[in-house]
Amino acid sequence: MGSQDQGPLYEGMVVRVHGGHYYVRSRENVFDCQMRGRMKKSWAESDLVAIGDRVRWSLAEDGSGVIEEVLPRKSALSRCPPPPRRPMEQVIVANPDQVLVVFSVRNPPPNPLMLDRYLVACEAAKLPVILIANKMDLCEEVEDREVIALYQRIGYDVLPTSAVTGEGIEGLRELLRGKLSVFTGPSGVGKSSLLNALWPGLDLEVGEVSEYHDRGRHTTVVARLLHPEPDIDVADTPGLRQFRFWDIDPEQLEAFFPEMRPYLGACRFTPCTHMHEPECAVREAVERGDIHPIRYESYAKMFEYEF
Ligand code: GDP
Ligand code: ZN
Repeated sequence: MGSQDQGPLYEGMVVRVHGGHYYVRSRENVFDCQMRGRMKKSWAESDLVAIGDRVRWSLAEDGSGVIEEVLPRKSALSRCPPPPRRPMEQVIVANPDQVLVVFSVRNPPPNPLMLDRYLVACEAAKLPVILIANKMDLCEEVEDREVIALYQRIGYDVLPTSAVTGEGIEGLRELLRGKLSVFTGPSGVGKSSLLNALWPGLDLEVGEVSEYHDRGRHTTVVARLLHPEPDIDVADTPGLRQFRFWDIDPEQLEAFFPEMRPYLGACRFTPCTHMHEPECAVREAVERGDIHPIRYESYAKMFEYEF
């Protein structure tokens, strides 16, 4: 039905979503597309088409594009939008290969709870995650390196960088090569500066660290897919400040802390929340120093407040 007036179908990837327009990249060109009317209905009340989505689209006579079909996703990084929006899955990036979470060793200092939230979300989505420790040029004391060691001990890859001295910049480029990566992290840690250091032509706006406290702005996630080299796609997510989980139950949380996994099932009570039960193998491991207290604190805070 109606397919007789539809021309050939092209495949492409959504690189930007803005006010009902979907910018689709096909063979290195970007086309301004709209959703086919009947699709709009089936996707109603949701923004379930995200950057990174692969779509089939056709070219209308006036030169505009029409998205006919969104292809199944192989992965997604999602969140639950903050109130007043009602709880639903909000896909930030579709089909990412990996997530790079940037923090700074100083100014602002690392916020482990915030980092752990990203890490848990990636574990839940089964997405490989790499931590980028930026502003290494500001490193002074051994304490500044402690956070790096903490995450390395758990088994996470951490790449030290500095947008100022250039440390780690080429390593970062190699991490990004051949993949679609989400580049995220709190505000003010130097994400734009790192991308500018890699590709000066991007000329991204660099903010002051004080903007970190400006909470009124960017209430929606404005994400876009940068394509600075033929085999590099980077999803830049400047609006992603509040990160609430989507589709994680408190009982699952323990499994998303890799260093807790060896102790699961060894507690006296099953199930055990690892919050207050006696003879809890997880809390015993914390007391012995086998699980870092900072990570346990993140677990406890998430367990109590995030669900
Ligand atoms: P974003 O919010 O994560 O994109 O952070 P920006 O790139 O806007 O940087 C925030 C502030 O940190 C700016 O004042 C930058 O000049 C500064 N900055 C970024 N990277 C570095 C770095 O590696 N070392 C130092 N010392 N400052 C940096
Ligand atoms: Zn326990």
